[in-house]
Amino acid sequence: MYLIEAYVTNASLNINRPFTYIYQDNIDRYTRIKVSFNNSLNVALVVESTYTDKSKTQLEEELGFKISEVIEVIDDNPIISDELYELAKWLSRTTVSPLISCLNAMLPKTLKTSKTYTNPRVVKKIKKNDININLTKRQKEVYDLLTDDMNLSDARKISLGIVNKLIDFNIISVYEMELEYVNESIDKSVFKTLTPDQQNAYDSIIKTDKVVSLLFGVTGSGKTEVYLHLARYYLSKNKQVLIMVPEISLTPQMIQRVKERFDDVIFYHSELSDQERYEQYKRVKQNEVKIVVGTRSSIFLPFNDLGIIIIDEEHDSSYKQDNVPCYQAKNVAIKRAYDQKCKVLLASATPSLDAYTYALNGKYQLLQLKDRINLNLPDIEIVDLSKQIRNKGSYIISNSLKDSIIDNLVNNKQTIILLNRRGYSPIIKCSECNSTLMCSDCDIPLNYHKDENILKCHQCGRTYKMIDICPNCHNKSLIYYGFGTKRVEEEMHKLFPSARIERMDRDSVTKKGSHQMILDRFAKKEIDILIGTQMIAKGLDFPDVTLVGILNGDAGLMHQDFNSAKLTFDLLMQASGRSGRADSKGKVIIQAFNVDHYAIKAVLNHDYNYFYNIEMRYREKVSYPPFSHIIEIIVSDTNEDRLSRTLQLLSDRVNALPFKTYRPYQLAKIQRQHRYRLLLLDKDIIKLLDATHLIVNEYLENKNMSHIKIDVDPLYIE
Ligand code: ADP
Ligand code: ZN
Repeated sequence: MYLIEAYVTNASLNINRPFTYIYQDNIDRYTRIKVSFNNSLNVALVVESTYTDKSKTQLEEELGFKISEVIEVIDDNPIISDELYELAKWLSRTTVSPLISCLNAMLPKTLKTSKTYTNPRVVKKIKKNDININLTKRQKEVYDLLTDDMNLSDARKISLGIVNKLIDFNIISVYEMELEYVNESIDKSVFKTLTPDQQNAYDSIIKTDKVVSLLFGVTGSGKTEVYLHLARYYLSKNKQVLIMVPEISLTPQMIQRVKERFDDVIFYHSELSDQERYEQYKRVKQNEVKIVVGTRSSIFLPFNDLGIIIIDEEHDSSYKQDNVPCYQAKNVAIKRAYDQKCKVLLASATPSLDAYTYALNGKYQLLQLKDRINLNLPDIEIVDLSKQIRNKGSYIISNSLKDSIIDNLVNNKQTIILLNRRGYSPIIKCSECNSTLMCSDCDIPLNYHKDENILKCHQCGRTYKMIDICPNCHNKSLIYYGFGTKRVEEEMHKLFPSARIERMDRDSVTKKGSHQMILDRFAKKEIDILIGTQMIAKGLDFPDVTLVGILNGDAGLMHQDFNSAKLTFDLLMQASGRSGRADSKGKVIIQAFNVDHYAIKAVLNHDYNYFYNIEMRYREKVSYPPFSHIIEIIVSDTNEDRLSRTLQLLSDRVNALPFKTYRPYQLAKIQRQHRYRLLLLDKDIIKLLDATHLIVNEYLENKNMSHIKIDVDPLYIE
């Protein structure tokens, strides 16, 4: 008999350890099994299997608890390697989350240890055996038409009845095969000759002994071209290559650009079906494919011989997962690079503060591309909205922006309008009693969505019927404040009735693939003006876009978060980078109230270093990252008594620690959950993690506590 140690699927932290089962045979490590857990069927992952000659009763006496038997073994082969198991353990430690949730974050759905894991799709094929009985003429005819490895469904098309008979007679047999991914082949285009700067970056990355390099290159400086050359180099050395991109930059254009150069490339992203993900996962594991372009979770693909991991737009927040396990894919990449002795290339036009700091002090290699390929950065104009309003101009589309759009329409050029707020109107207030319409489940103002004539909570998605009477004072006095993309679209149609205008935001691209459809049409110049949220700020490379208008460019600065200046700066720089990328000079118009803010000034002068220096002084003064690490603990509950008990326990422990801490801070209620936040700050991440693990262990010993979520180095703290 074998003693089996297995991790049972459960999101709860309190069982972050394996359980013991027995089985008559040995079971491979890292295969899934079905077991009974708390009287219900559960899926678990085997991590240990040891032979014993003792009986079940003997074992139970020795261990002091009842042992149940493994019900069924699911996998024939291990679903992960030792490296990935070690990686899961590392992830569990560095994100303070249960091992099983880390493992599940790493695997495609088909391989997850969840109760709802899906089986891989199979196709049934046939094999012809010898004819051992007399067949009728017709049966013989059908038999001759069949071939080995033919799909059963195709065979049955010839004659359902006869094929079934032949199966009954065992003259043909049926076997199952997992569906294979088929890659279409595409004409290869030539690689562009690198400019001297690009060549220098390329050579230096290949030569360096440093594990991490930072490629700091302005938008349109040809970073992507450098990635593609590097990929070719490592593929020629027979190494694997991973290029990571933010979800929204994985546009058809980007995909095309990679496909043109490489035969067998996988794109790993969220629009794939479970089955497609599984097939791609398998192909990487079997080393059938050497190059992958993917989003955050592609960092967990079962590579075994990586040459380089390239992380495009490394500053982008999509590399951080914001639910458990709250991992940072860049850190995982660097960890894997050390394990597999490969390189990591971080690239950005607006590097993260920590990456740039490491590059300046020599921990990372620093490479710069200071010029655009076309040697032409766009001209930037800032429109002061307060002046605009004083002069009775429109605060949605300023006169200057309107004139520039008209110029563009006349010259048959394209315009991108960025407004990082969807919907029609974000705030509805009563002019009598001054109350604001709020979501009753969240402490969040409701947005008006004109298409559907409803009010919507952008936090939880709950919708409400439109009303015209204030629920508080019952007067007919509701006023709409502010504007979202839908309102801008409406204004644009009024101002430019003959222009072809399209809107791209989460409301307009709900259908799968509609995001790509709009971009395709934009590329074909079937759209003159594209209005959108941050979805359109990144990665787009369209030669005829010569004007980018950014509305409420300083809106992000209103958030009282330590990272809001950086996020605003990044967004403005990225969006500006879409203008004038080819032969024609580009222009950017930023409308804002807070026109003297250093983030806005830095954008005006295309000056990252100006921004970096001011921002770093401020961060240093308040000891925020990159001068420290942060651990955020969010406690949430619908039950306020339980919440305050949990909060008491945690804040007692946190306050006893030798770190900078903050008093519990109340956050907006979300979906009826009251929420509080605790923060721990220190330079020493190891000490912070040790202390947090101890606190969590103690929290787990207490029964009936509120839910907690731990985020190590969050990108923003609300
Ligand atoms: P980035 O990734 O830095 O924004 P891209 O790689 O997209 O820049 O390059 C910007 C534009 O310049 C693209 O249209 C690209 O095809 C072109 N380009 C890049 N490198 C070269 C080169 N060496 N020669 C000619 N054109 C180039
Ligand atoms: Zn809500």
